[in-house]
Amino acid sequence: MSGEATARFSGGQAFPDGHQFINGTYRHGHGEEAERINPATGDTAETLRYADAGDVDAAVGAARAAFPAWSRSTPAERSDALHLLAAQLRDRADLLAAVESEQTGKSIRLASGFDVPGTIDNAVFFAGAARALDGLAAGEYARDATSMIRREAVGVVGSITPWNYPLQMAGWKILPAVAAGNTIVLKPSELTPGTSLLFAEAAAAAGIPDGVINIVTGSGRTAGEALVTHPDVAMTSFTGSTAVGRHIMALAARTGKRVHLELGGKAPLVVFDDADVEAAAHGAVAAAIINGGQDCTAATRAYIQRPLFEAFTARVAELMDRVVLGDPRDEATDLGALISHAHRDRVAGFVTRARDAGARILAGGSAPGGPLAAGAYYRPTLVAGAAQESEIVQQEVFGPVLTALPFDTDDEGLALANDTPYGLAASAWTRDLNRSLRAAAELSAGCVWINEHIPIISEMPHGGYKGSGFGKDMSAYSLQDYTNIKHVMMSRDTAAHKDWQDTVFRLR
Ligand code: NAP
Ligand code: MG
Repeated sequence: MSGEATARFSGGQAFPDGHQFINGTYRHGHGEEAERINPATGDTAETLRYADAGDVDAAVGAARAAFPAWSRSTPAERSDALHLLAAQLRDRADLLAAVESEQTGKSIRLASGFDVPGTIDNAVFFAGAARALDGLAAGEYARDATSMIRREAVGVVGSITPWNYPLQMAGWKILPAVAAGNTIVLKPSELTPGTSLLFAEAAAAAGIPDGVINIVTGSGRTAGEALVTHPDVAMTSFTGSTAVGRHIMALAARTGKRVHLELGGKAPLVVFDDADVEAAAHGAVAAAIINGGQDCTAATRAYIQRPLFEAFTARVAELMDRVVLGDPRDEATDLGALISHAHRDRVAGFVTRARDAGARILAGGSAPGGPLAAGAYYRPTLVAGAAQESEIVQQEVFGPVLTALPFDTDDEGLALANDTPYGLAASAWTRDLNRSLRAAAELSAGCVWINEHIPIISEMPHGGYKGSGFGKDMSAYSLQDYTNIKHVMMSRDTAAHKDWQDTVFRLR
């Protein structure tokens, strides 16, 4: 990465040429002006000019113009381009980690150890997957006719992403779409535009043609809705909250667009009485506080079979108390700031109301004071005894907060785990094979871990059941999601009147 580019990010002029990336260049938006706040300090980080509907139209126009050539490129050509993109991302790894950490408040260790390498690995995976789209074999399924399947790019994809993992979300949306031959316009969260813009710049440096990848930054109401309702956008892919996802689905219905939705989660962690308590406690803490708990697959509800309840909760509380909160830029920091002060207050509100309703706070339950008081910090928190039907157990808190409830029978544990509107991820902790297999089958979620919680891999799909949406990110399944399936049938029956036509009209 050139020193010049790195210098941009130390002087407060990160994107001097504007916060839109359209047709291969940065541009200034024509929408409202907005300040972005550094969540770790409360200070203004930068001023942005948002995209308005005209800017979105320009981006869609660029993507539309780029589509014919890109969609006709060979899989090998697209694969080469994505390998070069992976190399460009690798060159920018430190910069991407620093920007991701600054804009989200997440620790630099998480950004550089998870977000950035995960995104690079995704780019390498989709470079390979671009050449390996599979399907039914061509063959004679009707007499004297050959059928074959074509998988074709859908067109211009419009994507909208949230603020929690902005770089990884950009990768999850952009990579399968362009690997399959689509072009794309992506709108990241207004809170976290930086790494999506850098991703597009890296793609341009890799030689991916202008217009294939465009970024518009701005609010959901303006830029987001303009993208979802644009008549030249063929498909909308969205990651975010369930409420906004449903709204987007309704908007997309106006133009009959395909939608791909990855929505909220409320993942349970079920600890059976034969589990390794120490491993389950470490797994629970890591999975509950990762990214400040602002992870749609984070462990949010622990259900513990009664004989292990005291030992498990005591150990989780002890480990949570040892988590180091601090400046996200500091390598020693485990847990940085949450995304915003308003969001931190929302998280705190859930905990306060649970406590007022009689729940016991076994760890955390407050924001730190001292030098961290100005940032959007919140301590890792363990809440025991909140009722299954209470809001803290049922709704997305999206903070470093884990609830704990005991259960008696296996039936009861699995039923409690499934008892929320969400179904994105779940884990079961047991050394028993039959319990593992039963949990894998009966937990209603798009991902079930056994004796693990959180790891994701590029080869395997990520996506929900129930209120967590549908559509898969990562893996060959997501590549398929960004294609149309076409059946082509070619007759080699030379008769003018075919036998089957007799059922419609007879030769007399
Ligand atoms: P959000 O409020 O739903 O926003 C997500 C994106 O949608 C943002 O870019 C937002 O724009 C945009 N948006 C908001 N209103 C819109 C509208 N009317 N039309 C078009 N776009 C609109 O979610 P968030 O608070 O950013 O992120 C947290 C949520 O994401 C959680 O619910 C979490 O579970 C979910 N999530 C799910 C997954 C998954 O894979 N299932 C992964 C990560 C996160 P602005 O905010 O910029 O206005
Ligand atoms: Mg928002």
